Amino acid sequence: MNHDWLDPAYCERLTQIMGESHVQQVIDSFQTPKTTSFRVNRIKTSPQEVLETLQDIGIAPEPVSWCEEAFIVPPEQRSLLTHSQLVSDGDIYIQGLSSIFATLVLQPEPDQWNLDMAAAPGGKASHMAVLMENRGKLSVVEPIRPRMYRLADNLKLQGVEIQKTYLMDGRKVGGKVPERFDCIMLDAPCSGDSRIRFDKPKSQAYWSPRKVKEQSRKQKGLILSAFQALKPGGRMLYCTCSFSPEENEAIVDHLLQEEPESRLSPIEVPFSNWTPGMQQWQDQSWDDQVQQCVRVIPNANYDGFFMASIRK
Ligand code: SAM
Repeated sequence: MNHDWLDPAYCERLTQIMGESHVQQVIDSFQTPKTTSFRVNRIKTSPQEVLETLQDIGIAPEPVSWCEEAFIVPPEQRSLLTHSQLVSDGDIYIQGLSSIFATLVLQPEPDQWNLDMAAAPGGKASHMAVLMENRGKLSVVEPIRPRMYRLADNLKLQGVEIQKTYLMDGRKVGGKVPERFDCIMLDAPCSGDSRIRFDKPKSQAYWSPRKVKEQSRKQKGLILSAFQALKPGGRMLYCTCSFSPEENEAIVDHLLQEEPESRLSPIEVPFSNWTPGMQQWQDQSWDDQVQQCVRVIPNANYDGFFMASIRK
């Protein structure tokens, strides 16, 4: 299939970011059907129980080698899965593999006081609660009221009991509660330029260079606020579903320049479709550490994603 349907300006940028070697793989992923992945909610049930229930409705999901709770079903079984009782009861959560991996990289632990700073609809926050074994405290922030309600409902459905929900702008958190949290997830609002779909023309209509610039400005404020809210010795994960260096490497570099106590940690990636953070882009160059970031190259199983593991 050709890719004449893609905005030429977008396509040219994508080639510059991914390089000739990966761009075709990315475009193919926009135009081929995707599998659906889910995570078993350990707060409510076990993988064994879920597999038995799925077998009864004719679904035999494929396990994911790097996460015991994660499974994949083929595109033709998506509807059966998403309409199953397991989803409506909160026993499983439909979630992309890149997102599941992101929370595993952060590795929140029981009895900590942790934060999800841009939390709706709550996929990563509920996974944080699972890894915390529903013990300790989990603060969740979301500034858009209807999304905050959806987040609160979702966490309740997943059986999360340790959350406190805040309707606020994440950029204000650091000033209000400096050095409060052990682990922080910052899954930043972004241009979403990795989520283009051939069969969803609107997904492309949302993209523009102006949008990238706007989000980049907001992300710089969010990452500094998150770092301020982190305890010395704490860890945070910065991630986006964007390919744009302005929303990724440039944001992480901004933190490294502004905060001498910030360091990046290497991420061990158990799958092969990723590239390290870039050190240069157009006329900008960044700190050497930025190479420790990970850009997930999308394919039939994975969404495009970017992540940086940061410590204080
Ligand atoms: N982490 C979520 C999950 O896994 O379900 C997805 C988060 S989504 C990528 C980004 C969220 O940030 C959106 O819900 C958006 O409304 C919210 N957001 C937008 N501006 C924000 C701000 N200034 N502070 C905090 N969150 C913000």
